[in-house]
Amino acid sequence: MAPAQSSYIIVGAGIFGVSTAYHLIQKYPNASITLVDRDAFDADNRVAASWDWNKVMRADYDDPVYCELALEAQDVFTSDPLWRPYFHQTGLYWMCGRDYARDCIKNFERLGRNNDITLWPVEEARKMFGGLFNESDYSNVEQVLVNKTSGWVAAGDCLQAVTRRILELGVKYVAEEVATLQFDRSNRCTGVRTSNGNKLHGSHVVLCTGAFTPKLLELSAASSGLDDLRAGSRILAGGITTGMTRLDDEAYTRFADMPVGIQGYTAKKAPFVGSLPPTKDRELKWWGQKIFKNTKEVVPGRWVSSPPAEADYAQWEISTKLKEDIFNVSSVFYGSEAAKWKLEKHRICWDAFTTSSDFIIAPHSTSEGLYIATCGSFHGYKFFPVIGKYVVQMLEESLSPQLAGKWAWDRERPDPSANPDWPSVEMKDLLDPVRASRL
Ligand SMILES: Cc1cc2nc3c(=O)[nH]c(=O)nc-3n(C[C@H](O)[C@H](O)[C@H](O)COP(=O)(O)OP(=O)(O)OC[C@H]3O[C@@H](n4cnc5c(N)ncnc54)[C@H](O)[C@@H]3O)c2cc1C
Repeated sequence: MAPAQSSYIIVGAGIFGVSTAYHLIQKYPNASITLVDRDAFDADNRVAASWDWNKVMRADYDDPVYCELALEAQDVFTSDPLWRPYFHQTGLYWMCGRDYARDCIKNFERLGRNNDITLWPVEEARKMFGGLFNESDYSNVEQVLVNKTSGWVAAGDCLQAVTRRILELGVKYVAEEVATLQFDRSNRCTGVRTSNGNKLHGSHVVLCTGAFTPKLLELSAASSGLDDLRAGSRILAGGITTGMTRLDDEAYTRFADMPVGIQGYTAKKAPFVGSLPPTKDRELKWWGQKIFKNTKEVVPGRWVSSPPAEADYAQWEISTKLKEDIFNVSSVFYGSEAAKWKLEKHRICWDAFTTSSDFIIAPHSTSEGLYIATCGSFHGYKFFPVIGKYVVQMLEESLSPQLAGKWAWDRERPDPSANPDWPSVEMKDLLDPVRASRL
């Protein structure tokens, strides 16, 4: 392959797509690279999971690969002038289980970064950070991990800034929805067709389409007759609710310098929940415990989970049950204080999951020229500065065997029952009742 003469169609301008374009254009400044997304990169409303007020940036992983990758990304966030303005190194306070904490520490020690991370017994930890987490729910929490080098990223602002940079470097941006993939007679993927009927051609088509990926592959399988394009059980679209409260002056004084709060991987299998420090608008954010799928018939006889069909994924329509979910999580962190807060802003955010929470960064096995790079599984944002480097390695067939195996399209997958964050309930069961009959 000769990447400099290649042409790339990257579908999806979330972190996987933008990071891929960022690394490609720097390595091959004369390559033709087109980023296609249903939303303009600077739109007021976007459906991307990567477009958000803020995301946690932590290298505190028990998995050695993601620990190392997140440290690589964090080093960019702390040193590179393009990325640095968006990173807030507030530290992180993680109520977790003994095994998880031990494995994180081991990873940091192996990488010579052991000064970054400390472990605290619950009773001592409660007094830290001005006692902000004194009233948290510590059931099943065995230890508290504190990492002062972790923090959060102003996610949407950072995504927009990096997208602007790649456009300056020569990447083209097309704000249209991709309806299907296009193939030649030998089943090679040659480009995409948009919902407006436009056709875009490229020697490489990279799908960075997040939660929409299984549906796009179903639509493309139906239109091309290539049944094996389908994701099947490899990818599941899952949604989760976030909520925010605006702090008053008194509360803001106490919370302004707080660390990221996380509760997860405790002694009990339960989803991982978090609370992010206030944004510049003084808004404190949480995400909920209910992680759901939305299984619908996307083409006749084919049922897959995908974001709601509305152009904005119906992301601002939040049911009473989902609002309650956010309220419950706010009290997991701040006990009775949370009862005083009005939760004013909510959003449902969709991401693509794999059972192991590992990404897919791989050629598609059914069609030459087609590649998949997505499946953030609710933890992908933090890798934004570096993940594209690995996507480029995959395109060049130079990804290390370890990463190529971990992120393969076809690989052995664990049973999802072991994954506490696996979307297990249907969204329809969490919606407000709709009166169907008017008798
Ligand atoms: C509530 C929530 C909280 C999270 N918190 C964190 C966190 O704190 N830290 C962290 O590291 N990660 C976090 N994540 C995970 C992270 O946000 C995602 O893993 C990551 O952003 C996924 O990036 P992506 O590029 O794969 O997908 P996305 O960001 O969703 O981008 C996909 C893009 O593809 C476009 N697209 C899809 N289909 C089409 C089509 N047919 N035509 C044109 N365009 C299309 C969409 O418009 C979208 O812009 C969180 C996720 C959620 C949902």
